[in-house]
Parts: sequence; structure tokens; C-alpha cells
Amino acid sequence: MFKAPDSPYLVPYDGSFKVADAATAAAAKGRRYKGEYRRHLREEMKRLQRILAAGDRRALLLVFQAMDAAGKDGTIRAVMQGVDPSGCQVHSFKRPSDLELDHDFLWRTSCRLPERGRIGIFNRSQYEEVLVVRVHPKILASQKLPGEIDLDTIWDDRLRSISEQEAHLARNGTIILKFWLNVSKDEQKKRFLARLNDPTKNWKYEPADVRERRYWDAYMQAYEQALNATSRPWAPWYAIPADDKKYMRARVAEIINQTLESIGLRYPEPTAADRKEFAESRAELEGDSAA
Ligand code: ATP
Ligand code: MG
Repeated sequence: MFKAPDSPYLVPYDGSFKVADAATAAAAKGRRYKGEYRRHLREEMKRLQRILAAGDRRALLLVFQAMDAAGKDGTIRAVMQGVDPSGCQVHSFKRPSDLELDHDFLWRTSCRLPERGRIGIFNRSQYEEVLVVRVHPKILASQKLPGEIDLDTIWDDRLRSISEQEAHLARNGTIILKFWLNVSKDEQKKRFLARLNDPTKNWKYEPADVRERRYWDAYMQAYEQALNATSRPWAPWYAIPADDKKYMRARVAEIINQTLESIGLRYPEPTAADRKEFAESRAELEGDSAA
């Protein structure tokens, strides 16, 4: 078990989280955080990841969820900058494939959970099943579910499945941190307009994103229900203000580092047998006249 770092953005475990009260604006100007962000990412995260890999016991799973244009991709890129790529894997979950729809809804994410010693990053996740699908329940018709679908119970059932799986993973050594990058509706509009008006950003523009924005309130309600149902000490959610990207990245990096620091990572200690072998190898190397 680890202790989730304290933060004003930690979603409480008692179900009292309200999206309407969650900050989207930075508590300080982003520029001030630039140095801090570099330090968290470039130095501390690298060091901690190396020890995580050497220990080969625990894994770290980072889940990112957000409305479009909140900055998921950039935040994930920033986190990746701080780590050794060979010890880290990123998966983006889009609309499920036919193969994925042939399985239960936790299957595709389960297959991509990080191995011991590694960091796994989910760009979208199993939570889409209680977010986009909840906002557009007609998607359920393509999911090959058995029997009648009961819209009064299916979302709580799914949230329970997700939460129970997280408890299981936590007991087996996976540390789970979940980030909701909370962008305001107004800032999203600015970013969409920038994508439309700036030729270097045109490629990011998708008409579907603007259509999805019409369902903003339904998404906020689905986020509130999902975060309240699944923010737990072993798998906390953080609702990070996303209107200032640098501030957001600094907060995410800080929470990851504080988590890795809190679990007392140590390089594995050689056993007595290891030490004996080391002594023999050392003697052999030192006596090797060919060197
Ligand atoms: P970007 O736009 O930055 O490339 P993205 O994550 O928005 O990244 P897209 O391909 O634009 O990727 O969108 C993926 C879409 O797939 C989203 O609209 C998301 O809600 C949807 N999606 C993800 N998981 C599911 C799911 N289980 N069922 C239905 N739709 C899903
Ligand atoms: Mg998109």
C-alpha cells in the first residue's frame, strides 16, 4: 500500500467531489513552475524509475482522462521525457475493435497493464466505458452484451468492476494514480478555435470534437459519478486544473514523484550468496592477466 500524496486536487474518498467546485485555473502562474517541473521530470523521476526497475516488484499505472484539447497528449509527452523509454509503455485507447468487443470491457486495458518494474501510461482507459458510453448509451448496442441492458444499474455495476479490479491490482503490487485533466469549457473553445485558425494546428482539429462539446454537462456529470465511485486510497483520482498547461504538468509530475518517494524504493540488497559470488567474480577478474 502507498500513501496518496496530499494535494488540493486529490478527489476525496467519501463521494463528496463536485465538478462544479473543482478548479480549472492554475493556483499560480505557469512560468513560476517551469524550473520546478524540469527538476521533477528530468532528475527525480529518472532516478526513481531506475530503482523501480531494479526492484522489479511493483509497477506504476498512470491513467489519463480528459475532455478533448485538455492536454492529455502533451502531459504524457512531458512525463515520458523524464523516464527511460525502455521502462515505460504508453497505450492510447480509441473506439474498441471487433476483437476487443468480443471480450468483457476490462479485457483490452488488462492486456496492457504494466509489468513489474515498469511504468504504464493509459491515454484514455477503461473509464471510457462509464464516460463516453454513459453519455451515448446507444454505443451499448454494439457491445454484444448478453440479455437485457438495464440502464439503471449498468453504470454502477461497471464502476464496481473497475474499482474491484483496481483493488486487486493494488494488492498485487501495482500503484495506480489517475489524473483527470480538468479544462474549462471556455479554454476548450479557445483551443478549438486555435486549431481552426492556426495552420500549424489544423491537423489537430476534428469536427467530431466540437459535436462532443455539446454534451459537456452530461460528461461533467459522468466524470463526477466516476471519480466519486472510484477514488480510493489505493487508486486515487486527482482533478488537475488544466487551463494552464505548465502548471498542470508540474502538478502531475510532482504527484508521481511524491508517490514513488513515499513507497521507500531501494535498490535490491545482495544476499549472502550473491556477495560470495561477487567476491569470486572480483577475484577472477582481478587475476585475469589478459586484461
Ligand atoms: P487525439 O484526438 O488527441 O488524437 P483522442 O484520445 O481524442 O486523441 P481520437 O481518436 O480522437 O483520440 O478519439 C478516440 C475516441 O474514442 C474518443 O472520442 C473516445 O471517447 C472514444 N473511445 C475510447 N474508448 C471508447 C470505448 N470504450 N467505447 C466507445 N468509444 C470510445
Ligand atoms: Mg480526439
